[in-house]
Amino acid sequence: MAEPAYSQGIARGADEPRGRNSPLDIEGVSLRYPTGTLALDSVSFQARPGELTVILGQNGSGKSTLVRCIVRLLRPTTGAIRVAGDDLVPLSGRRLRTARQQIAVIFQDASLVPRRTALANVAVGCLGRQRQPWTWIGGLPADERRGAFQQLERVGMSPLWEQRSDTLSGGQAQRVAIARALHQAPAVLLADEPVASLDPDATHEVMSLLQRLAREEGIVVVCVLHQLEVAREFADHLVGLRGGKVVIDQPAFQVTTEDLSSLYRAGA
Ligand code: ADP
Ligand code: MG
Repeated sequence: MAEPAYSQGIARGADEPRGRNSPLDIEGVSLRYPTGTLALDSVSFQARPGELTVILGQNGSGKSTLVRCIVRLLRPTTGAIRVAGDDLVPLSGRRLRTARQQIAVIFQDASLVPRRTALANVAVGCLGRQRQPWTWIGGLPADERRGAFQQLERVGMSPLWEQRSDTLSGGQAQRVAIARALHQAPAVLLADEPVASLDPDATHEVMSLLQRLAREEGIVVVCVLHQLEVAREFADHLVGLRGGKVVIDQPAFQVTTEDLSSLYRAGA
């Protein structure tokens, strides 16, 4: 292959979102909560398509605050968050809502609608476009159902498309949540501790999926973790946060065990 997947100038298909194959560029982002806590202190890094970027740090280091800033649920006090070159920080109203569609997020809890099928839960992701109440899922047009089914295929969950979400295992539910996020056709997929409540097998299943989406599908995938071993096994790019500051920003293979343990050492 002549060029890495994240290099400049890759042609985009006409139906691909604008941000595809562009890095997520975080520059000098600080956030102070009204309580006075400086949760992020001039955070800068780039997350590129083709790589699984893992954000690592102990409790309270600012990981979730950073995720909430990137999806612009919080507005950073200072700094820029660029997707495909556009800075989301100054946006508001309709322009912010449009820009936000490029960024999908999943959390520790898959938050599926219980008693509904896996397929219906994925189709929820398109209801913003449909402008229909989600109870109408049974009557969704065939092409919408096909679209949701294709997302389940992408995450290896299509054989269980009819299964009620509250009967899925934790790992299966998280994969359906990922399919629902993918249905938004995001340029950036954020995951805040997606495996925190999963057993080792399900953790492997979900992390392998995120890694594949990053490496093969041109999506920028940023995954927050607090488990060192999982980060070590799956990350291509590691960003370490300590006290709201970036203290590691390197290809994962360059990061030493000593670097990682410094993230968790008391004091300093
Ligand atoms: P992490 O996800 O790494 O555990 P957080 O981003 O949740 O860290 O928290 C970073 C810091 O910001 C912590 O000191 C936390 O107490 C503080 N914090 C988080 N949310 C709020 C909030 N809504 N209001 C005030 N302080 C907050
Ligand atoms: Mg958190």
